[in-house]
Amino acid sequence: MSHLDRYTCEEMLRRLDDYVDRELSPEEMERARRHLETCAACAAEFGFQARMLAELRAKLRRIDVPGDLLARIAERLRAVGPLEEGAPG
Ligand SMILES: [Zn+2]
Repeated sequence: MSHLDRYTCEEMLRRLDDYVDRELSPEEMERARRHLETCAACAAEFGFQARMLAELRAKLRRIDVPGDLLARIAERLRAVGPLEEGAPG
């Protein structure tokens, strides 16, 4: 296996975001995976990023607004009527 079969730490870190989002090509994913298997520093960084992403997605799910609430807000806005175009000047 030559050194071309996996990334250096610099190459790995540059692609880490895309690796977490699985936006790399299959070949790049494989190279990144091989690097993470052998590099504790990058594996730790990957673990940190993956955890952040998981937390972010969990938060986004929690603040998901119920459909009926959005409908009520839209109804309320219609009742108030069109907004005045009160631009100064
Ligand atoms: Zn590394």
